[in-house]
Amino acid sequence: MATAVYPGSFDPVTRGHLDIIKRAAKINDRLIVAVLINSAKNPLFTVEERVALLRECCKDIPNVTVESFDGLTVEFAKKRHASVMVRGLRAVTDFENEIQLAQTNHALMPGIETMFLATSIKWSYLSSTIVKEAARYGSNISKFVTPNVEDAIHAKVERLRAEGKTL
Ligand code: ADP
Repeated sequence: MATAVYPGSFDPVTRGHLDIIKRAAKINDRLIVAVLINSAKNPLFTVEERVALLRECCKDIPNVTVESFDGLTVEFAKKRHASVMVRGLRAVTDFENEIQLAQTNHALMPGIETMFLATSIKWSYLSSTIVKEAARYGSNISKFVTPNVEDAIHAKVERLRAEGKTL
């Protein structure tokens, strides 16, 4: 039984992430999408909100579960008896960070292998940051995210506006 972990911030989940999730779920028996709690970035969505949005997006994929975790990703993977860590590679710009991360993780926990999936060309430009930028300027983001995520972003934007803040 091969268990894989797909870690990330998912702030929020995009159609690019979902493409990786669907493909990774096909080649692993079990996939745990793991939302990092102590991300250094200033997140738009709370961890609970990010997990809820991901769960809604993945509800029809039977071998996918969503969890949050704190601390080292390899420690979380070990606790869940995972042997694979999935990461998506969009462009050369991702490569430098990702190879360093994979090598560090391998040094820390040699039993866990990082599996890179090349992003579908359709989503190679897409990031959570781009989605938030587009939403901030009122662009249509339905191409980038699922309807539940779109609604959640609009609700956030409106709440922030009411508080006199911006995204
Ligand atoms: P992190 O902060 O860990 O990079 P992200 O949520 O930004 O978290 O990304 C999680 C993973 O998903 C990373 O491996 C990233 O390369 C990948 N990813 C992000 N956007 C896309 C996309 N458009 N297509 C495929 N993979 C993506």
